[in-house]
Amino acid sequence: MTRRRRRKQVTLEDALGVCAWCGKQIPEGSEVFSIGARFRPGVEVEHERNVIELALTPTRKALAIVPTEDSEARRAGYDLLFVLCSEECGTSLRRVLQGQIDIFESRLGA
Ligand SMILES: [Zn+2]
Repeated sequence: MTRRRRRKQVTLEDALGVCAWCGKQIPEGSEVFSIGARFRPGVEVEHERNVIELALTPTRKALAIVPTEDSEARRAGYDLLFVLCSEECGTSLRRVLQGQIDIFESRLGA
């Protein structure tokens, strides 16, 4: 069998297990914060999987989860979900998100 080199793809587990802001691993069972964000009307983000990498600033990327159609986040009207290790990280991320022209609204929740 030939070994195929695969580009490392981020999975949903990756996105759920690391902080979207500081990149720290979030230990299982620990308290997790999340931010739900909405895109401005008319903004469509192409994605093949349920995780996307969002360039927040030229130097910082965050993993964002695209909620499935039947998820609670989607029902709440969110297009994106960020997982965070602490409230501080959530506040920092939110501050940057608010400056994104595509983001309409973002809300921090535990
Ligand atoms: Zn963090």
